[in-house]
Amino acid sequence: MLVCVFEGKEQWVVKEVDPPDLGEDEVLIQVKAAGICGTDIHILRAEYFQDFPIIAGHEFSGQVVEVGRKVSQFKVGDRVTADPNIFCDRCYFCKINKNNHCLNAQAVGVTRSGAFAELVAVPEKCIFPIPENLTFAEAALAEPLACVVYGAKRSGIQPGEKVLIFGAGPIGLLLLALYKVYGASQIVVVDVSEKKLAKAKEWGADLVVLADGTEDKLIREISPLGFELVVDATGIPRVQENELQFIQPDGTYLLFGVAPVGSQMTIDPYFIFRNDVRILGSYAVKKTMQYAINLLTQGKIPVKELVSASYPLPQFGQALQEVLHNPDRLKIQIHFA
Ligand SMILES: [Zn+2]
Ligand SMILES: [Zn+2]
Repeated sequence: MLVCVFEGKEQWVVKEVDPPDLGEDEVLIQVKAAGICGTDIHILRAEYFQDFPIIAGHEFSGQVVEVGRKVSQFKVGDRVTADPNIFCDRCYFCKINKNNHCLNAQAVGVTRSGAFAELVAVPEKCIFPIPENLTFAEAALAEPLACVVYGAKRSGIQPGEKVLIFGAGPIGLLLLALYKVYGASQIVVVDVSEKKLAKAKEWGADLVVLADGTEDKLIREISPLGFELVVDATGIPRVQENELQFIQPDGTYLLFGVAPVGSQMTIDPYFIFRNDVRILGSYAVKKTMQYAINLLTQGKIPVKELVSASYPLPQFGQALQEVLHNPDRLKIQIHFA
């Protein structure tokens, strides 16, 4: 089968390898669509907890082509997507319902072979059926949406509160869509790309702010007393440290964007103390995949608009170039015939 292997830091190759061995509790999926995520870029740059060589790709959908002996819920031909996070269900954190902090966690496309490949083997417990009305391209966005559902559940907001989102990429837009569902009274979105901001407007942002150096002043004018919720969807530490100032007293900061492992940001501890600030992380997915699929199935979030371009696997290099160098792009996917 044809795969893209990340062989080491900044090194990748598209090549033929043997199909994966299928465990008795695993399902073999013929991949139809796989999104390239910021995390994949961190993996390629050795800024994550990856193991090289690795076939990356953790946002995907496809069709079942084989099932292991113990698989009971799926059959050949089923259309599916997957939660790439594999939890042991036995360790301390799994037993107290903190599965996403499983001490023995594996992840498809991070610690084991992923979906930048014609075939991917995934444990049955991680697989979810997708309805006929969802395309494979849409279903491949269920995983990022599941991450966003988890983050939104953690940060909450009450109807009428104000939200400020930094970053209008696919994650920022998904957060925007969800906080609208939560009943925010005003959502302001900040980004460096005018095209992305135009999309944020289409998706219901009340105001958008171009990050051209004048944004701090503009944000202050929009809401002089700050926002109940400030969300980072940029993953850039120097942007993140500037975001805190916009949090209202007793407000919440959701750090959603993935910064490189070991990077630093500067925080004024007195500001956190004086303003009763709550700082939250949001790691991966915790039992929110089905909710993401439910939202997609009911057409609540127009995710197909998030796909800027899709390339066949042999053109992985072009796809990567676009991810790295086109500031206006949203989700770039790899597709298979
Ligand atoms: Zn991802
Ligand atoms: Zn565990």
